Amino acid sequence: DPRIDGIKTKIRVVPNFPKPGIMFQDITTLLLDPKAFKDTVDLFVERYKGKNISVVAGIEARGFIFGPPIALAIGAKFVPLRKPKKLPGEVISEEYTLEYGSDRLEMHVGAVNKGERALVVDDLIATGGTLCAAMNLLERAGSEIVECACLIELPELKGRDRLHGKPLYVLVEYH
Ligand code: 5GP
Repeated sequence: DPRIDGIKTKIRVVPNFPKPGIMFQDITTLLLDPKAFKDTVDLFVERYKGKNISVVAGIEARGFIFGPPIALAIGAKFVPLRKPKKLPGEVISEEYTLEYGSDRLEMHVGAVNKGERALVVDDLIATGGTLCAAMNLLERAGSEIVECACLIELPELKGRDRLHGKPLYVLVEYH
């Protein structure tokens, strides 16, 4: 798809952020370009409309940028999966390990019903730990995960292998 090249050129790579040796993929530059931002959302919408998806779950923080426009366009609800202690209601939570230490994602009880078909959205998959925790939350609530969708994949880190055998769709790979 010719739109992918335009999207790729709008992602800025920032060396040594947030620490030495990391090549950070910065999607804020893509958001500054209305065409590239719209093309990104459109590509996901074209893939998922008509697939009977009733839940788009977005991962804090950048899954909150791309998830909602996709949800609105395909007629699904949006469920935020948040960092600890942000959600005011009763939550279920899943811990995941980081390079140093661990973090947690939380989801409101009752946000998702048993048997609902869900799409999980984030901006980037690296080791896959974050998406794996997100999938655990949705599956514990009884939903069926249709696919995970990210703008960017770092394939060398093999995060794809941690996604419970579910498919992952990405627009751009960064090697
Ligand atoms: P993982 O759990 O797959 O190792 O890391 C993915 C999570 O970290 C995602 O929520 C993603 O937003 C964030 N992340 C890690 N590296 C980058 C990066 O280079 N750019 C951006 N935008 N997010 C990153």
